[in-house]
Amino acid sequence: MAKKEKTAITPTREEDYPEWYQQVVKASDLAERSPVRGCMVIKPWGYTLWENISRSLDDMFKATGVKNAYFPLFIPLNFLQREADHVEGFAKECAVVTHHRLEKGPDGDLVPAGPLTEPLIVRPTSETIIGESFSKWISSYRDLPLLINQWANVVRWEMRTRIFLRTSEFLWQEGHTAHATAAEAEQRTRMMLDVYADLAENDLAMPVIKGRKSAAERFPGAVDTLTIEAMMQDRKALQAGTSHFLGQNFARASQIRFQTPEATEEFAWTTSWGASTRMIGGLIMTHGDDDGIVVPPKVAPAHIVLLPIVRKEADREPVAAYVEALAAALRDRTYAGKAIGVEVDNRDIGGARGWDWIRKGIPIRVEVGPRDIANQAVFLARRDKSHREKTAMDRNRFVDEAPVILEDIQRQLYEKARTFRETHSRRIDGKKDFWAFFTPKNPEAPEIHGGFAWSHWCGSEDCESRIKEELGVTIRCIPLAAEPEKGGCVCCAQTSDQRVVFAKAY
Ligand SMILES: [Zn+2]
Repeated sequence: MAKKEKTAITPTREEDYPEWYQQVVKASDLAERSPVRGCMVIKPWGYTLWENISRSLDDMFKATGVKNAYFPLFIPLNFLQREADHVEGFAKECAVVTHHRLEKGPDGDLVPAGPLTEPLIVRPTSETIIGESFSKWISSYRDLPLLINQWANVVRWEMRTRIFLRTSEFLWQEGHTAHATAAEAEQRTRMMLDVYADLAENDLAMPVIKGRKSAAERFPGAVDTLTIEAMMQDRKALQAGTSHFLGQNFARASQIRFQTPEATEEFAWTTSWGASTRMIGGLIMTHGDDDGIVVPPKVAPAHIVLLPIVRKEADREPVAAYVEALAAALRDRTYAGKAIGVEVDNRDIGGARGWDWIRKGIPIRVEVGPRDIANQAVFLARRDKSHREKTAMDRNRFVDEAPVILEDIQRQLYEKARTFRETHSRRIDGKKDFWAFFTPKNPEAPEIHGGFAWSHWCGSEDCESRIKEELGVTIRCIPLAAEPEKGGCVCCAQTSDQRVVFAKAY
């Protein structure tokens, strides 16, 4: 029997995936739990990652003509009530502000006082309050399209929370646009989905399937919801970004009207689209291993860490000088349009130092000791390979090739994730095989299930809800790129024209 390899994270993914996730988040220094249940403190390593993701997205938004604005945290309660499906979708998870003051109570404790005549809700999403502004900003077809985005926090009161994946407060962007025609709004909905897919695949190295949600899985109040779905390493799906065509529902609710060139009055056609810190959860579960997280170079908070090896006091100064010069040379190089980010870790903590950076997922670790100086070399390790695999490399060659190595890591991570997804995706026909695919074979590991099933669905909500109730499996999306194909529904055997993607999901 092979000796079990020592790993930095216990338990391993195989042993207990949900617990592995909690431990890997903690060990990676990305974020931690806050004193308020369900909220998170995002630490600098995690926040820089978020900044890199959000800057990349922001650039892409702006390239399509979107402008940023900011809307209030508080929304009058009656605004939420304006759109019936919307209120039903969000009512259960709203934080409500009912008082505006604290007073000392009889036993000296602070108690809420000054009840509000109309309670306020803390935004779970901003369609309604942005709609209010749009109704004032838009009066003519000349004011359209209106393309607005905001970077903000939102609050959705969650009972079961997990850092980055489901938290009561999270960071996100929400784009909101208004158009003169349905076709233009639908085109925008699709355009923003493509932006999310671009970010996921090219920056996060996370392969995604673009598709449409079934009616039951749509955003509350939307006419159509487009999504990108990725497979995590426990073979569950993660919805990583959504883009909604809202038709005229929200325009009607918020009275967003415009005068047409023919001087008639019409309601505008609107869209909304959002992506959140949840993407960091997706990144962790796509690339992380039993030694920690693995950060794709394109969004990494830093690319390379230099670890000076000093065993004798006499070596300290020459090693420090060599490392500083190396750091400066690397910082002069660019990767993906930005200066290479270099950390120098001078802490005297022995081997624990290297493991810290492995757990944090930095793409490249470089050790430099007196022998490397003598050889004008470096000793490097890549995070996408085993922690034991280290290679010596000529110092100047490393400086020249660092961007190439980073790009290779980026590509390898994507390929590995794509291979994983393909390995665990199956075209499944027939009820028996479908049910078997999603029934855990090993009761000791209930989280390990089949993966993505590409199967036929007749389109009925009855079949969809039966599959959800009996197997805990949902239609992740009706893929946009799938070929039309005749088949029989995996639940009722009625005819179907296209395969959809079924999976368990976060
Ligand atoms: Zn059916």
